[in-house]
Amino acid sequence: MNANLYTLFRSRFPTDLDDCWIETADAHYYSWRDLERGSAKIANLLASLNLPSGSRIAAHVEKSPEALMLYLATVRAGFVYLPLNTAYRAAEISYFIENAAPAVVVCAPDNFGWVSQIAFKNNSGHVFTIDEPRNGRNSGSLLNRAAHLSDEFQTVHSDADDLAAILYTSGTTGRSKGAMLSHGNLAANIEVLHKVWDWQKGDVLLHALPLFHIHGLFVAAHGALMNGSKMIFLSKFDSDTVVRHLPRCTLFMGVPTYYVRLLSDAAFDRHACEKIRLFVSGSAPLLTETFESFKEHTGHTILERYGMSETGMLTSNPYDGTRKAGTVGPALPGVSVRVVSAEGHNCAVDEIGDIQVKGPNVFKGYWQMPEKTAEEFTDDGYFKTGDIGRLDNEGYISIVGRSKDLIISGGYNVYPKEIESVIDELPGVLESAVIGVAHPDFGEAVTAVIVARDGVDILEADIIASLKSKIANFKVPKRVYVVRELPRNTMGKVQKNLLREQFGTP
Ligand code: AMP
Repeated sequence: MNANLYTLFRSRFPTDLDDCWIETADAHYYSWRDLERGSAKIANLLASLNLPSGSRIAAHVEKSPEALMLYLATVRAGFVYLPLNTAYRAAEISYFIENAAPAVVVCAPDNFGWVSQIAFKNNSGHVFTIDEPRNGRNSGSLLNRAAHLSDEFQTVHSDADDLAAILYTSGTTGRSKGAMLSHGNLAANIEVLHKVWDWQKGDVLLHALPLFHIHGLFVAAHGALMNGSKMIFLSKFDSDTVVRHLPRCTLFMGVPTYYVRLLSDAAFDRHACEKIRLFVSGSAPLLTETFESFKEHTGHTILERYGMSETGMLTSNPYDGTRKAGTVGPALPGVSVRVVSAEGHNCAVDEIGDIQVKGPNVFKGYWQMPEKTAEEFTDDGYFKTGDIGRLDNEGYISIVGRSKDLIISGGYNVYPKEIESVIDELPGVLESAVIGVAHPDFGEAVTAVIVARDGVDILEADIIASLKSKIANFKVPKRVYVVRELPRNTMGKVQKNLLREQFGTP
């Protein structure tokens, strides 16, 4: 059997290939036939370059249907797709290209000068461009070259263990590492998600996430491909555009920030969500307050799930059944999730420990880092996620932080999420982030960074006084800083490394 992921998707295309695959925000339509032919042309171009098998194809391109075709063409041709965040600039791109040594780099024409310089310096043989779509037409040298080639392509035979993609981790705590994902990893994960989220005939996905990250590519786009479903494709999230298209959609997936922004958009109401059957949130913690306000405002209960680049999705609140605020739900079928104490035993219910996982979705290791890979797996084959959490008596996981964020103050473990939840409940507080900063006495001192609600003045002394009545003294922040907003990356994750840099010296 050919385990090439494209063959799985191809088997799920609608019978009528003229059905709409993607509708763009400015009403341009791509059919499933366009996808089949377009990806064949690009696959033919890649195949004509006589690259060694396993070559990496790096893409630093804006979101477009053609960018998605490039991904699928890479998979079809048996190469390894390497998506790069479009926000990355020269220093970051240099690191990824040097590290992954892609044979082909595809970038935006505007960036061709500096990207090609980096690529050629690192022995990439080919640099192509994909432009941003203009008037429904997309150009650039990749498409121009591919246009002359055949629109048929025999999808290459791949084994389940062959690599399909390398995703660089978001690196909010350290240097980014390339997570190697196989055709089998990606297929296993999307087969499960397709089932548990009950993808249905006639589903339409509003796709507002970026394509360079697991959420937009392997959860959202894969889901639609697996279901032969149409996507309404927004080049980026913008609440007005979402509100405009939502009434025709049945599914929406976003990072928590999207939900917060939708809630503050006056045009977002129950009518906009009329046809929606599922709102999914992930990539960063969804505040209980957002979960509750969304329910009140729309009547919909957001389904929160948890996963990471290295593993795909691991847990999900149920489609049918209770979706518990502040939890990411139980382990997905076929995925084994455990919470382990520092001494290495399985934690009791509600006991906090390290989250470890095993399953067909778990990656093959970090690109060219065998030692680092070995360190991150236990002797019995579990991957150490680096997340800290607890299991409740019904098997639902709550994430309390990253192990690198764990604060040890005066010998006591302090879990930032716990303190953040208490602070977020205080009057006048919009949100908060808790970090540890070096302290001569305690080793680390708990420090809070807070965003106040509009028009509210927050005083450090008041926050500290309120917290003293609610939590143990060792957990109470020694300092509280008020900022206008928390630094977040594109996926909505708070960049605590930046906060530690800014507030790390008392
Ligand atoms: P990435 O590989 O960029 O998707 O980042 C994965 C990390 O994001 C995980 O290890 C978690 O720390 C965090 N994450 C993902 N989903 C959630 C969630 N629903 N709640 C809290 N953290 C999450």
